[in-house]
Amino acid sequence: MSIAFNNSYSRLPTAFYETVSPKPVSEPETIACNHELAEELGIDPKWLDSKEALQILAGNRVPDGAAPLAMAYCGHQFGNLVPQLGDGRAILLGEVIDRNGERRDLQLKGSGRTPFSRGGDGRSALGPVLREYLVSEAMAALGVPTTRALAAVASGDRVHRETIEPGGVLARVARSHIRVGTFEWFAIRNDSENLQRLADYVIDRLYPESRETSNPYLTLLEQVLKRQARLMAQWMSFGFIHGVMNTDNTNLSGETIDYGPCAFMDAYHPAKKFSSIDHGGRYAYGNQATIAHWNLARLAETLLPLLADDRDAATDLANDALTTFRPIHQGELQQRFTAKIGLAGEEEESWELAQSLLTTMAETGADFTLTFRHLTAMMSSGDDEPFRQCFKDSPAIGPWLRSWKQRISRQDPTDPAATMRQANPIFIPRNHRIEAVIRAAYVGDYGPFHQLNHLLKHPFDEQPALEEYEAAPRPNEVVAATFCGT
Ligand code: AMP
Ligand code: MG
Repeated sequence: MSIAFNNSYSRLPTAFYETVSPKPVSEPETIACNHELAEELGIDPKWLDSKEALQILAGNRVPDGAAPLAMAYCGHQFGNLVPQLGDGRAILLGEVIDRNGERRDLQLKGSGRTPFSRGGDGRSALGPVLREYLVSEAMAALGVPTTRALAAVASGDRVHRETIEPGGVLARVARSHIRVGTFEWFAIRNDSENLQRLADYVIDRLYPESRETSNPYLTLLEQVLKRQARLMAQWMSFGFIHGVMNTDNTNLSGETIDYGPCAFMDAYHPAKKFSSIDHGGRYAYGNQATIAHWNLARLAETLLPLLADDRDAATDLANDALTTFRPIHQGELQQRFTAKIGLAGEEEESWELAQSLLTTMAETGADFTLTFRHLTAMMSSGDDEPFRQCFKDSPAIGPWLRSWKQRISRQDPTDPAATMRQANPIFIPRNHRIEAVIRAAYVGDYGPFHQLNHLLKHPFDEQPALEEYEAAPRPNEVVAATFCGT
């Protein structure tokens, strides 16, 4: 057997999912296989390149041991409850136990219609498949918890979106695909038995240490809050905007999931948004922690019956847990942003310096990644000109640079340059690069995809031959909006 499935979700009651097989595609062709991830999953990387693997990754053949299903969930989208969502274009093939003994889902996305497809075709355009592959793998290389990409396949079929596009299938791996919306699915149906079953499943699979505490469901909530609070700080420290933080896109595992209209910012501004459907800026860069907290309040509501017998007591417990989110997030954010300027996070003065830099960046439209990249490079080159140029000759940066240099020189005994190198990537998947990759792929050239994917494996390392990828987009290359592409 090529993939050693060990399934557990399919053993839950049928209220959790619909059994459904992937629908074959016409002419599958492998674009990318992630050999490192395969190894981690105990899958032979050589096998992954085989014809048999391609048939499986395209959804043309159901492998032995798989138990394909579409997961049921609902969710709040842009603040409004949508009572039925579910996997409309994704199918969970099954689970494997990875090299670390951890259970991982293997899912195909774009693999055909399911009972949850509503009006959709169950397919994915190739563009979003390549985008998710690149960005999720880049996030992993940056050390941000995320779903992973095992393979990208071109289907040989056409999908109808705003235009006709080539189709694709993504093989996605996650610690689980259970979302806040999975809990909401049972809560709004008043199915308390299955809600408890789901909570128990999540505890056993993702938070087993909760079992040892006096109130495991409360501990579950606290742990999920902690992971999301940290995740939001990680996203923000790399200038990442998710773009569609609905409760059905909030994973209980704390992994970033569903890279639709996401983007790494070029010019910094806290109100920046990219999603073409986010008219009010609900999911703008600076709003992400507030929204994650809002999403987790929806999770807390579903857990109330499990937290305590008495409703008021349960509400108090949930509210107390929810109040932990802000301080945890703030601490994580502070630590990450002060590290970006080479300072230790505990001191108020360091945080103030980081914030005043961000203010000047927002006022001058400085490029987020390049600003920190040039500040880091200055530590070894001593040349502050590239850094100053990020601010388009703004006089405000001179005094900031002086205060920062003073602060750095007073700091002992840490190595600020090393701290900064670890906190400030040189390479991020910039939107204009991703779009160029997709344009090339649509005329059959996957070279740019492989080039970008390759360099993003080492985002913190200098790669002199590929220096051009560091650059911000020229004015005519700036991508102002991204689309779900569904
Ligand atoms: P997403 O935007 O990926 O978070 O998807 C939101 C919901 O729409 C989920 O229930 C998806 O399964 C469903 N959906 C998105 N695209 C399609 C499609 N092409 N066909 C069927 N369902 C879809
Ligand atoms: Mg989704």
